[in-house]
Amino acid sequence: SGRLAPCMAVLSHWGSAIAKIIGHNVRASNRFDPVVNMWVYEEMIDGRKLTEIINTEHENVKYLPNHKLPANVVAIPELVDAVKGAKVLVFVVPHQFIAKLCDQMKNHLGEGTIGISLIKGISEGPDGLKLVSDIIREKLELDVSVLMGANIANEVAEEKFCESTIGARNEANGQIFKELLQTPNFRITVVMDSDTVELCGALKNIVAVAAGFSDGFGLGDNTKAAVIRLGMMEMVAFARLFLGESVCSETFLESCGVADLITTCYGGRNRRVAEAFVKTSKSITELEAEMLNGQKLQGPQTSADVYNVLQKKDMVNKFPLFAAVYQICFEGRLAKEIITCLQNHPEHM
Ligand code: NAD
Ligand code: 13P
Repeated sequence: SGRLAPCMAVLSHWGSAIAKIIGHNVRASNRFDPVVNMWVYEEMIDGRKLTEIINTEHENVKYLPNHKLPANVVAIPELVDAVKGAKVLVFVVPHQFIAKLCDQMKNHLGEGTIGISLIKGISEGPDGLKLVSDIIREKLELDVSVLMGANIANEVAEEKFCESTIGARNEANGQIFKELLQTPNFRITVVMDSDTVELCGALKNIVAVAAGFSDGFGLGDNTKAAVIRLGMMEMVAFARLFLGESVCSETFLESCGVADLITTCYGGRNRRVAEAFVKTSKSITELEAEMLNGQKLQGPQTSADVYNVLQKKDMVNKFPLFAAVYQICFEGRLAKEIITCLQNHPEHM
C-alpha cells in the first residue's frame, strides 16, 4: 500500500499510554499502515500470557490497567516477528534493556526504516557519555528522533492535556513522528536540538530523586523549588559540558526541560520512591520491587552513569546535586546531606 508500518517495543507503562495514541492516530491517517505491531516482553499473569490477555481484552492489565488499547494494536512476543516489515520504530523500554534489544533486531530491519526513542536515560561508553539514541543509531544505522516531555503516563492515558517535545536531526522525520503522535490533548513541538532534548529527559530523573529526598524530610515547597532550580542549573551545565556550543538555551524552556522537571519532581515514580527511601531506610532496589509492580526507576541508575562520567572528567565538585543523589542512593551517604549540598551549592559561592 506504500503506507508506513509502525512497530513499537515494548508494552511498558509509558509504552501502553503511547500505544493508545498511536493506535487511534494510524486509523485516521493515510500515511500509516493501520496495524501497529507491538513487541511485548512476555510474562505470565495468573497463568495466562500477557500478550494473549492484551490481544483478547485489549488491556495491558499489568502495566496500564483500566485503559483499553485500540484493537489494531497487536501484541507480539517475538521481537523479530514484531519488527518485520516495520518502517517506523518507536522505542519505549527502560534504558537498561535497549542495547540488547537492538542487537536482537539488527539484520531484521528493512531499508529506510526510521526510529524515535522515548527512553529517558543515558549510558556510558568508552569515550564517556553515550546517549540512548546513539546506541540505537550505531547498532541499527537508523535516523533516530527523540520524544521527551512532561508526560506522566497515567495522565496521558486519561487524555488530560499536556505538551511534549520531539528532538529531530532530520526535520522531515521529526514531522512524521509528530503526525504519528500528536492529538488534541498531546501537543508536540519539533526542535532540531535533539541531543539537548534527550539529555533533559535523562537528567531530570536525577533531580526528581533529590526532590523526593526533600519531600521525605517534609521540607516544603520552597526547598523543592530550590532543588528544581539548582537541578536545572546542573542540567544546563552538564549539557554544555558534553554537547558544547550546539546547546540551545531555549530548549530548556520547552516541555522536555522546565515542564518535565516540574511534573517529575511532583508526580513521578523517582520522587515517590526517593521519599520512601528517606522514610523507611530500605534500599532503592527493595523499594523499586515493593512499590512499582515491575516498573523500573531510571533516576538512580542515571545518577550512577553521570557520576562515573564526571569522575573521569574530574568534574564531580561542579555538580554537587547530581553527585549527592548518586552517593546517597549507592554509597551510604546520609540522605539529609542533600541539605548540606544545597547550602553549599557553587551557585551561592
Ligand atoms: P516501565 O517502568 O513500565 O518498565 C517495565 C517494562 O520493562 C515492562 O514493559 C517490562 O515488560 C519490561 N521489561 C522487564 N524486563 C525486561 C527485559 N529483560 N527486557 C526488556 N524489557 C523488559 O517502563 P516505562 O514507565 O514505560 O518507561 C520506559 C521509558 O519511558 C523510561 O526511560 C522512562 O523514563 C520513560 N518515560 C516514562 C514515563 C512514565 O510516566 N512512566 C513517561 C515518559 C517517559
Ligand atoms: P518517573 O519515571 O519519575 O515516573 O517520571 C515519568 C516521566 O518521565 C514524566 O514525564
